[in-house]
Amino acid sequence: MSAGPPPRPRKLAVFGGGLGSLSAVFALTELPDWRERYDITVYQIGWRLGGKARSGRNLRAHARSEALGHHVWFGWYDNAFALARRVYAETRRAPGAPLATFKEAFKPCDTLLLGTGDRSSRAPPWKMHLPRADNLPGDGAPQPSVWHFAQTLLLWAIDCIPRLHPQFATWSAIVPRWPDSSRALWPALMRRASGQGVRAYDGFDPQSPDYDALLRRAAAAAHDEDAPQTSRQRRAWAQPLTHCGEHSLRTLVGLGARDSHPQFTTMVDLALAIVRGILHDGLDRAGFSAIDDQDLRDWLRRHGAAEASLASSVVVGLYADHMSYESGDVARPVAAAGAMLRAALRRYLAFSGALYYTPAAGLGEVLFAPLYRLLRDRGVAFRFFHKLKRLCPAPDGATVSAAIVGRQIELAPGVEEYEPLLKVKGLPCWPSRPLYSQIVLGDDPVIQAIDFEATESPEVEEVALRAGVDFDDIILAIPPPALGGVARELAARDPRWGELLDRTHSIAAMGAQLWLSPTWAQLLGAPAPAGAGELPGTELPRWFNLSTAAPYEGWPREHWPGAIASLSGPRPDRAADGSREPVRDIAETWLKSHPRALWPEATLAGADEFNWELLLDPQGRAGEHRLAAQHCWSTQNASDRQIVTLPGDPRHRLAAGDSGFRNLWLAGDWVGGGIELACAEGAVITGLQAARALSGEAIVIHGERDGVDLE
Ligand SMILES: Cc1cc2nc3c(=O)[nH]c(=O)nc-3n(C[C@H](O)[C@H](O)[C@H](O)COP(=O)(O)OP(=O)(O)OC[C@H]3O[C@@H](n4cnc5c(N)ncnc54)[C@H](O)[C@@H]3O)c2cc1C
Repeated sequence: MSAGPPPRPRKLAVFGGGLGSLSAVFALTELPDWRERYDITVYQIGWRLGGKARSGRNLRAHARSEALGHHVWFGWYDNAFALARRVYAETRRAPGAPLATFKEAFKPCDTLLLGTGDRSSRAPPWKMHLPRADNLPGDGAPQPSVWHFAQTLLLWAIDCIPRLHPQFATWSAIVPRWPDSSRALWPALMRRASGQGVRAYDGFDPQSPDYDALLRRAAAAAHDEDAPQTSRQRRAWAQPLTHCGEHSLRTLVGLGARDSHPQFTTMVDLALAIVRGILHDGLDRAGFSAIDDQDLRDWLRRHGAAEASLASSVVVGLYADHMSYESGDVARPVAAAGAMLRAALRRYLAFSGALYYTPAAGLGEVLFAPLYRLLRDRGVAFRFFHKLKRLCPAPDGATVSAAIVGRQIELAPGVEEYEPLLKVKGLPCWPSRPLYSQIVLGDDPVIQAIDFEATESPEVEEVALRAGVDFDDIILAIPPPALGGVARELAARDPRWGELLDRTHSIAAMGAQLWLSPTWAQLLGAPAPAGAGELPGTELPRWFNLSTAAPYEGWPREHWPGAIASLSGPRPDRAADGSREPVRDIAETWLKSHPRALWPEATLAGADEFNWELLLDPQGRAGEHRLAAQHCWSTQNASDRQIVTLPGDPRHRLAAGDSGFRNLWLAGDWVGGGIELACAEGAVITGLQAARALSGEAIVIHGERDGVDLE
């Protein structure tokens, strides 16, 4: 009996070319036998990859790199960095070529500047400086468990408290000042811990207490051979320390600690509130997601954080950083507590290498161009200018039977396939507009006026891709704000899709990218300590220093930018009218109101007014008109809206392998079952989950779940 023909590879259609889908495709093509198993085609609306993280070169403005805001990657983004490092390792650019290595492409930063959030305040920003770790993100360092975070915060708070007030620098000076009732309860908590086998408090004599020795011993017990082992013992060990921390902090605040050490006092207060919350809500066993139906600030307040701490830059800045505002209104910060807390603790306590990294130029050229070339060289097909319009369920509702796609352009005669990249100073980049010479009628102003990245853009032909013929499986990696039409029929079959579409909250974003003549250090009047920071309370609360991009852009010597800055923030829904002019007005107001908050030396001598001459303008316009030479942008397309995780939202998300349709897999920062936060790492994790669910292979995903006690 002759064997039949070998099974053909399964055809995989991937819709959307952002971080979520590309990490899925990357992971699948890492499998040694992937060519026998899959035949992969990525369909992308418009002319470039990268989605919300894309950037493009403006050929009408010295090939400068323009983006929808710029992106920092935090040192805890282990999966995202593993992807980037693999891309650089495999593409191996020639030594001396621009951005030849990962280390040239991502710049480590140790300091984050957190503005006060109070517009009238002249207080300097908080300098969140954290020393480097000696590994690199992407090494696969295990994420600490929830308990480990609690323990670290508790030990840190206990270590800090005696330093908060110069006159009360020992526990023996602080504890006697507690109210009697608090002091009376403490020994009972210690006795209870001893009763549960925790040795740390044994021998405590309430008659002649040596509080300093006691606390030293209790803290050391976290690490010695008697360290509490079971979840019950750990909690019993933590309770007396938490009690001690809280009452001591309260005592010292009463004695003026917040005035003398406002930042440390705030951090200790927040640390203790988090520890108390973790223990009270059992997050060491349930994981952070258990509190995703609450707002972070409400949760902290419920666990005792002071209002002053909740109003501090560190908390306000977390919302600003994730643009986590209801309807984009900065007056309404709101965020699912578990998702935000997980990200915040990983950010500050569990990073590899440096606190965060800034791409040396736009992510388009730093990541998406080399990733595209790598995947294409591996054998993945890309169809640019292909817009998914509808997914059609099969009559039995078990699978997707067709995908209706709009082809947006005709290729010019002689062009076999759209070639999307161009080189700027030897570096492969995406253009900020299509390469019209490859398109029929590409020199026609009507064609050039079309926004090919918009869902509502016209098309030249509608194509139906059929299950079993054109695809066997689909990875859907288009975010819900752009899925209304695409997923309508899925929602009619499966109500969970309706919930997903209704309950995914998203906001528009806006910003200004500025090219300035002086260097960043000249604008500061001091060496630049940070690559990024937040100015919460302003219309554009996030800023980045992008000056490293200048050498990769095409500026002539006489217009060389000393500094490049990105200011960005949410765009309130009521103002999301799509026009650019208002964003320029907002940028103008920002520069008039806050220049000193960012750059003390950017004002005219003896005045508070921004010195407009500092903005680069090759056309030499005067005053605020120089803003016309900058890149003011807003997210106009539904797909570009930032997903915001509001309390309760994660419950309505679908997981990568649980779309309700047997041949449909999901990837993107809106997909559930990962870290539930819209960021590069969130998108990459879901991409890896989609690849794992689709292939059935044991693809390792670092930090995918919280480390919890299973007893
Ligand atoms: C302004 C802004 C700043 C940000 N800053 C940071 C930061 O500093 N750090 C960080 O970690 N994260 C940041 N983020 C979040 C981060 O960019 C996203 O979480 C991540 O890029 C999402 O990737 P994704 O693949 O899930 O979705 P997307 O990037 O949205 O990808 C979706 C893809 O689908 C395509 N598409 C849409 N409709 C169709 C269609 N009909 N047919 C075919 N293709 C379609 C899109 O063009 C896109 O390529 C920021 C987001 C915004 C908006």
